Amino acid sequence: MMTEYETRHAEKDQPSSSACPVCNTKAGSAFFDLRHVPVFCNVLWVEKTRAAGAAKGDVKLVCCEGCGLIYNAAFDASKVEYAPDYENALHFSQRFQIFAEQLAEGLIERHGLTGKTVAEIGCGDGYFLKQMVKAGACKGIGFDPSMERHDKRGFVGESVEIVPKAFQTGNLPTHFDLVICRHVLEHLRDPLGLLASIREAVGKRQSALYFEVPNTTWILESCSLWDFIYEHYTYWTRSTLGALFARAGFHVLETATGFGNQFVMIEADTSEHAEASVRAEADAKEQVTVCQRFGKAAKRHLDRWQHELGVFAGSGRKVAVWGAGSKGVTFVNAVPAALEAVACLVDLNPRKQGKFVAGSAHPILAPERLAELQPDVVIIPNALYEQEIGAELSKMGVEAELKTLQ
Ligand SMILES: [Zn+2]
Repeated sequence: MMTEYETRHAEKDQPSSSACPVCNTKAGSAFFDLRHVPVFCNVLWVEKTRAAGAAKGDVKLVCCEGCGLIYNAAFDASKVEYAPDYENALHFSQRFQIFAEQLAEGLIERHGLTGKTVAEIGCGDGYFLKQMVKAGACKGIGFDPSMERHDKRGFVGESVEIVPKAFQTGNLPTHFDLVICRHVLEHLRDPLGLLASIREAVGKRQSALYFEVPNTTWILESCSLWDFIYEHYTYWTRSTLGALFARAGFHVLETATGFGNQFVMIEADTSEHAEASVRAEADAKEQVTVCQRFGKAAKRHLDRWQHELGVFAGSGRKVAVWGAGSKGVTFVNAVPAALEAVACLVDLNPRKQGKFVAGSAHPILAPERLAELQPDVVIIPNALYEQEIGAELSKMGVEAELKTLQ
């Protein structure tokens, strides 16, 4: 008889046995692999040696032939159960703040939420709920088990309450008019299960839903392979997200893309029962082809960066990466030459500064430090921030060559 470890290990070596979490179709062959990447890109380490020893896992991407869903067939849910010192807040960027403000105002207007109650699953420190209250909602209640380790007093205002627990059907407030869930679905082992439990909690009442996830169509089209990270088990498109909501019994009002095409957003409600979309199955074949094309291009992309960083290291040019988010962390881990070529990562978020990147163990510094470091090359993982970063560098008197990862 196999031990639990051996069973898990055997499963990992046979990713084809891992079926689609939505339609249960047996996994086909993988179209792209990233081996030994950090399990948690956004967990930062105070000690360099511990950063280097951080847990790693494989990303083996398959596209479901039944429904077109893209997921990591080598995903081991037990590896991601507990994330210490999780730091994934996007709202330090001004561009993101503007996006969140406009989104909140739009939701309030479209769903008539002035004076109403909104709930958020995976609310983090409550930033977006505060935006919703500012835009007109009367109360926001959020669920996030990662808030358990924080000092709650800093997070609870008069109108925003954070429950430091995972969402469960029974802990939703008696009255709620909108359920928000941003950048959570892609982490879950059972995404359909979450939707089904919300559907059950809503029951016969009227409620709207707003979900937001990374836009996989954009990732594939722009060959942004750094967006495939271990923490994300599933990868959604407008088509597969719409089909999931329909499958769970929601009426899809709209699917859209936003934030420079990097997010997929869906708005749904309970106004009528919908059958699971058959369109998704027709789209699945096309999606498989798109994925295979991406796999080839992504391998070439990796090789090109390996070569380029090798040249920088050989010529003694100093390289810094601006942005210690998932993309930057995946980049310095996925390209072996980064170990020698990249001097540091910088990030605006003060909670990241002074810490070390999981896996590659690069230091993360405050952007101001670039004035003394005077790098020759600054790599920008997210092209959306190129202008913002370019302006900051000029202010500091840093004349570096800017390169974006896209
Ligand atoms: Zn499927």
